[in-house]
Amino acid sequence: MAEPLFNRLCLVGIGLIGSSIARVAKKRGDIAKTIVVTTRRAETLQRVRELGLADVVEADAARAVEGCDGVIFCIPVGAYAEAMRHIAPHLAPGAVLTDVGSTKGSVVRDLAPLLPAGVQLVPAHPMAGTEHSGPDAGFPELFEGRYCIVTPLPESDPQAVEKVKELWRRCGSMIETMDPVTHDKVVAIVSHLPHLIAFTICGTADDLAEETKEAVLKFAASGFRDFTRIAASDVDMWRDVFLNNREAVLEMLSRFAEDAHAFGRAIRWGEAGFIEDRIKRGRKIRRSLIERKQA
Ligand code: NAP
Repeated sequence: MAEPLFNRLCLVGIGLIGSSIARVAKKRGDIAKTIVVTTRRAETLQRVRELGLADVVEADAARAVEGCDGVIFCIPVGAYAEAMRHIAPHLAPGAVLTDVGSTKGSVVRDLAPLLPAGVQLVPAHPMAGTEHSGPDAGFPELFEGRYCIVTPLPESDPQAVEKVKELWRRCGSMIETMDPVTHDKVVAIVSHLPHLIAFTICGTADDLAEETKEAVLKFAASGFRDFTRIAASDVDMWRDVFLNNREAVLEMLSRFAEDAHAFGRAIRWGEAGFIEDRIKRGRKIRRSLIERKQA
């Protein structure tokens, strides 16, 4: 077995993503010698103890990060600034600070100014997840065969960047490096906009008259059912994603709205060729995802 990457690794927050990292680390043994977990609620800490996800469970995040050579933020992105203010003076010199947040521009904005000298910030985003949350929801295979996007700062120490990449390789992921602006645009179209559409379509269905709504639920075909799965996602996480990737989501939404209106216009004017073309493009994209084993 390879040497553990980290001597003492602290997970700040432990829901779906944090507990999946803890589970891979426990299973493999070559990610961290000691896993420290901190989270805000006593109930979650208790659950972490029951599940045996950590070697050390610590309620105070500042004490938890002390002496750690690796720290991973696994909390909603809107909570980063406050958490960082609390822990920054306690981060060990030479430590690598990384995260799993779904937005990256906001992470650099909120963490970089508070970074103590000698601590390396290397943000990352595992492109893997489910609609479930909390420490019970995680599983060690979550990241296998999925991409992890790493968005180092221009001044990031190459050794720290390599350590974060190796962490994700050991979790089974494929690595892609990007700048935070490109990352935020890409995820706005592949993840944030689809969620916005799913939340909206469920809201629209919910606004229908009572008897129609019942019929909607009764006859929910697979199309609507798939949207409801996506729309079952965590409230705090998704509120923070939209508020912290504002520009990119608004840009993608306005492009989408234009394209949706064009589709509507084609339906109104009976332009069968336009409609067929859109459906064919959808089928082509689905096929290429299957070929890339990302479906
Ligand atoms: P989760 O299952 O809901 O767990 C959230 C964790 O953050 C819990 O430990 C919770 O603590 C803590 N937390 C929540 N609000 C907080 C606050 N205001 N201050 C401090 N701690 C707080 O979330 P998750 O799905 O693992 O997501 C964690 C991060 O991963 C997010 O930044 C998200 O954008 C990113 N991400 C998620 C997915 C996905 O599909 N879910 C995929 C990729 C990346 P308590 O339980 O103690 O309250």
